[in-house]
Amino acid sequence: MADTIVHSEADERQMLYAIGKWIEKKVAPVALKLEHDNEWPADLVADMTELGLFGALVHPDYGGLGLSATSYTRIVSLISEEWMSLTGIFNTHMMMAIIVQKYGTEAQKAYWLPKFASGEMRGGLGLTEPDAGSDLQAIRTVAKRRGDTYVVNGTKTWISNAIEGHCVALLVKTDPDAVPRHRGMSMLIVPKIDPETRQPLKGVRNGKKLGKLGYKGIDSGEFIFEDYECDASLCLVGGKEGEGFYMATGGLELGRINIAARGVGIARRALRESVAYSQVRKTMGKPICEHQAIQLKLGEMAAKTRAAELLVEDAARAYDSGERVDMEAGMAKWFASETALEVATEAMRIHGGYGYSTEYVLERLYRDAPLLCIGEGTNELQRIIIAKQLIKRNPA
Ligand SMILES: Cc1cc2nc3c(=O)[nH]c(=O)nc-3n(C[C@H](O)[C@H](O)[C@H](O)COP(=O)(O)OP(=O)(O)OC[C@H]3O[C@@H](n4cnc5c(N)ncnc54)[C@H](O)[C@@H]3O)c2cc1C
Repeated sequence: MADTIVHSEADERQMLYAIGKWIEKKVAPVALKLEHDNEWPADLVADMTELGLFGALVHPDYGGLGLSATSYTRIVSLISEEWMSLTGIFNTHMMMAIIVQKYGTEAQKAYWLPKFASGEMRGGLGLTEPDAGSDLQAIRTVAKRRGDTYVVNGTKTWISNAIEGHCVALLVKTDPDAVPRHRGMSMLIVPKIDPETRQPLKGVRNGKKLGKLGYKGIDSGEFIFEDYECDASLCLVGGKEGEGFYMATGGLELGRINIAARGVGIARRALRESVAYSQVRKTMGKPICEHQAIQLKLGEMAAKTRAAELLVEDAARAYDSGERVDMEAGMAKWFASETALEVATEAMRIHGGYGYSTEYVLERLYRDAPLLCIGEGTNELQRIIIAKQLIKRNPA
């Protein structure tokens, strides 16, 4: 069964139109306040559930929309133009769902995917630990097999949706002594609440909600596992140990394309605000867009934003064709995130003092953009991944 179904261009246009209207009516009026109040957007999450966004890439047989990555990234960019945090809430969840859809057993797909698609069980991806981020193989969370269950011990940090979510795709060591290290890594789907009774489960708790520079509409937190037990047949993705590292990196391909799509949203908004403002703000008797110094900025911002859009389209199309897309996703992620940071900074300069004001969107774009250079694999690592793929695909 293919993971996506083909939607017509008219379907996609209709969906983008509906989401655009929702952004205008419901998101735009509240985003600034919710962000500054560091408040989780419960009403908007309910709307996103209704729009089907938690099942965007889940196949319709399991209750999802079955969108292509190409359509999905367009949605992500559109929402990020208004408030990037919202896209984090469903995208980190989507990575968990895609791991089950791509690698899960039939029984796991039948059990988890309808719950994920409906938003009844929301979650995220639990890779990072206090002493292991880029070096994923250094994680120390351990799951030991005991009869029909796994017993999990360890701590994860910086996990998006950790507090407001209900479960997590958890990267663990099932064989901490394995060499090479990745052979001892497995992926578990770990609920925090019983999916049937919705009561909290024993052995798992959240640590503190982490404070952040931006991206405040989504919770980032710790997970602490102390002799947490889960049913092996439901939780061990694919039913086989030793494949978790491969699943995590597979999930990150989509995550990186999504990060790039968010970068496009931020860059587009910063550019749009700058083009408008530079025509109405006057200095020395003329609109600032007539000063060459501002034109140089606008020209570069526009070209880089367009290049970022094209790299995202390219990576999403390759993903949809079923290829392994480390290089394409890495290029899109690196370029679009650096572009978002650069364009947001230039937009702030073009707006002068108003760019620094908490009453306008510019300072939020500026605070949100740096995360894109760090999350889903830092931009230092992206360039290394691109180079390695380049060599692999072009042997001498
Ligand atoms: C807001 C936010 C949300 C997040 N959400 C999640 C989530 O949902 N799930 C999750 O699992 N994680 C999440 N993370 C964690 C994120 O993925 C990590 O922060 C990121 O992978 C980097 O790891 P680190 O912070 O440990 O940095 P480190 O790995 O310690 O890196 C520090 C620096 O060293 C550089 N570096 C490291 N290794 C190399 C190398 N081999 N070559 C060159 N340079 C190198 C890095 O590029 C970086 O500049 C989130 C982080 C943030 C800030």
